[in-house]
Amino acid sequence: MNLARQIEQYLPRQLLKLVKDISGQAAKRGQRVYLVGGVVRDLFLGYPNFDLDLVVEGDAVKLAQQVAETSQAKLLAHHRFGTAKLKYENFTLDLATARKETYAKPGALPAVTPGTLKDDLIRRDFSINAMAISLASNDYGELVDPYQGKSDLEHRLIRILHPESFNDDATRILRAVRYEQRLCFEFETQTAQLLKRDIPMLDTISGDRIRHELELIFKEKQPEFAVRRLAELGVLKRISPTLKGDGWIAEKFDKARRLKKPTQLPSLYFCLLIYSFSEGGIEQFLTRLNIPAKLSRAMSDTLRLKAKLSLLNTSPLKPSEVYYLLQEYEPVAIQANAIASEPSMVHRYLQLFLTKLRYVKTSLDGEELKRLGIPAGPEMGKVLQILHKAKLDGEVSTKADEKKLALSLKALDFHTDPEPPRE
Ligand code: ATP
Ligand code: MG
Repeated sequence: MNLARQIEQYLPRQLLKLVKDISGQAAKRGQRVYLVGGVVRDLFLGYPNFDLDLVVEGDAVKLAQQVAETSQAKLLAHHRFGTAKLKYENFTLDLATARKETYAKPGALPAVTPGTLKDDLIRRDFSINAMAISLASNDYGELVDPYQGKSDLEHRLIRILHPESFNDDATRILRAVRYEQRLCFEFETQTAQLLKRDIPMLDTISGDRIRHELELIFKEKQPEFAVRRLAELGVLKRISPTLKGDGWIAEKFDKARRLKKPTQLPSLYFCLLIYSFSEGGIEQFLTRLNIPAKLSRAMSDTLRLKAKLSLLNTSPLKPSEVYYLLQEYEPVAIQANAIASEPSMVHRYLQLFLTKLRYVKTSLDGEELKRLGIPAGPEMGKVLQILHKAKLDGEVSTKADEKKLALSLKALDFHTDPEPPRE
């Protein structure tokens, strides 16, 4: 099957020119280049996907170095893995040396040796991701599909390439669910059985790799579908006994996505995912997934704040009181609690902090206070704090108000701590 026409229509002109140019340079070096993986799958499905993966028969790093020298591309090479990234203004291309993989033991990273395109395709996760399209001039556009990926695409099936696939690399269990849910496909019968059989093999996978797959799931349009499915299959339980993927999670993920500025969306999903954990139970999960420091703080803060929410449910609080109660928590932890709590006083206070209070700054800065005659040091710190509090509570609003307040404070003596008694 030849897809030359389809590629020409599918790829943006600039990108097409780039890959043809790379293939031309490869030919002069006696190498062949193929489009591979997700882009081939998505070309058939008609979904845009311009994160191109290229497989090179022969040394991909040397080829990439040559391409980088003759173009505007920035090169990032990994000699050990035989891979290289070429960064252009609008695109990034991944080049990989065609390779053969062998797994010494389940879950370990495979031993890698150079191989043919076919070797490179059989090491892949699913048949729909194991197709390639030649970019060489003598058979440009020719589909290479040794594992019936196209037929599986037509039957909407996720199929592993050999029975030990999940055993070799159990991250594929998470990947299978991600594609199943994204594409609305089904597991082929034997794949479904082997997936269930090999769920315990998740224990052989490092925390970093499991976390990376969860991060990929959290980049999906509606990750709650995959999360629910992982729960149903018993995968979540295997990662951590307390993890749930129920309707509550689905509802809250959806709510998180509808926020106006969901910049920290993946972190927010992580915080919501563990919302039902106890403060003690979270430690094991953070360790299992080797969660990095900042996210780890956000997740722990989520549960710490959850335990303190009742403090926000007392008699009306001044804005400054709300501020002092919440300022110590990561904003994403506050956001998670706002999403998790039903509309109420508590919810309103959390929102008030997130949308307003955390951005409140005094108009006067240290330099200006100095000019008003307030010396740098603890005294100035105290004045700034009082100004900030007054601003939070709406007692001052303009810069002139602040000046007036600062001058009135200047008259006060802040050094009221009694001198220690002399012996
Ligand atoms: P998408 O990015 O849309 O999820 P993709 O196919 O580009 O799809 P990547 O995660 O970018 O997926 O991986 C690129 C390719 O590498 C995949 O198509 C797959 O063939 C292969 N691959 C990735 N992870 C694994 C794995 N754990 N085992 C085997 N092959 C893998
Ligand atoms: Mg990709």
